Amino acid sequence: MDVLISGASMAGLSAAHWFARLGHRVTVVERANGLRPGGAPIDVRGRAIGTAQRMGILPRIEEEKVRILEPGPVLDGAGAQVATLDLRWFANETEADVEITRDRLNRILLDAIPKDVVFRFRTSIASLEDAHAGVRVAFTDGQHGRYDLVVGADGLHSNVRKLAFGPEKDYVRHFGHYVALVDLPDDRDWQRAMLSVPGLTIAVRDAGDGPQAMMLVASPELAYDYRDLDAQRRMIDRFLSRVDAWQVPALRAAFRDPAAEGFYFDSVSQTHMPSWTRGRVAVIGDAGHCAALLSGMGTTLAMVAAETLATTWSEHEGDLAAASPTYHQRLRPYVEQCQAFAHQGAPIMVPATQQALDERNASFRACAATFGT
Ligand SMILES: Cc1cc2nc3c(=O)[nH]c(=O)nc-3n(C[C@H](O)[C@H](O)[C@H](O)COP(=O)(O)OP(=O)(O)OC[C@H]3O[C@@H](n4cnc5c(N)ncnc54)[C@H](O)[C@@H]3O)c2cc1C
Repeated sequence: MDVLISGASMAGLSAAHWFARLGHRVTVVERANGLRPGGAPIDVRGRAIGTAQRMGILPRIEEEKVRILEPGPVLDGAGAQVATLDLRWFANETEADVEITRDRLNRILLDAIPKDVVFRFRTSIASLEDAHAGVRVAFTDGQHGRYDLVVGADGLHSNVRKLAFGPEKDYVRHFGHYVALVDLPDDRDWQRAMLSVPGLTIAVRDAGDGPQAMMLVASPELAYDYRDLDAQRRMIDRFLSRVDAWQVPALRAAFRDPAAEGFYFDSVSQTHMPSWTRGRVAVIGDAGHCAALLSGMGTTLAMVAAETLATTWSEHEGDLAAASPTYHQRLRPYVEQCQAFAHQGAPIMVPATQQALDERNASFRACAATFGT
């Protein structure tokens, strides 16, 4: 059968592997002109470890994982050290969990895809029509096709979700924060540390291939064009202007630089959908059930959903309506559990008030005393 996947990231690449391996003809369309690089190291955890094992990629993920780094200083708004953070206190759900850069995982997933999968970059779906004989698709490059299944794996701002299920506002819930990342130039000695003031955390860490800055900020939902990078750079600069200490002025310059690599900015949001299937269209990964960056479970869910959808759909001989109840039964409880983790992440990463910040720092000091960091 013919399967079309929109999006070539964690969810889309995993889905391409599974559908092709189960004997289907697979086409992947990706809006960008290649795999999108960048991002902080992400976690492959829990059920995704089993998925990675069945995909045959676990040994390579293990080989290329990020080694959790030295404990780092935690700073107050004036840049003075108030605690120490050792990521090993929080990083893993179980001993088997792995942290790896997005770029390396993307490459590993790509290498695991059978060679007959067709990739079409710089292309999106322009329209979908679910007709009797399959889904008729028009692409932005003027081509057309017919598919037995269309999988939306195109992220939080999913195009397939919008075309098949309705507007983003019906499904995406702002989780109260924004995140920004940028790779830092190696032209100075950046201190690896984390500075927090109420509602704002700025960190510099090694992201596997060099220093990277991260900003997490509490903010109500803002109206902006998520494709307008200049507008995003101005927003980040405004958020960071609250702090003048430490190396924040240099970090602001790095975020403002249009030539800087690894730039990423998005809302921290969750996707909640009563059903992830409609007709012959399904949405997986952030498109269908984003758990929010603060959960640390986005990649795990994307990989698990791809395997679950491909196997359940194949068991039902390509009848998505028949497969749908079993698919939801197999995935829904895990999605709910992972989405709940995001509520635990916020008070650790971005305490909202000075009191919450003091309590967080005290808990870091207690961990350091207990674990001997
Ligand atoms: C550049 C980047 C950096 C990220 N950094 C982090 C991070 O630091 N920490 C973290 O927890 N999560 C990060 N994420 C999100 C993380 O990858 C996902 O939460 C998770 O892995 C689930 O993956 P996904 O495949 O569902 O979505 P995503 O990884 O968001 O991938 C969606 C893919 O769909 C493509 N796409 C979008 N619109 C269209 C369209 N109209 N047509 C075709 N293709 C389309 C995108 O270009 C992208 O390749 C990042 C995502 C990106 C794209």
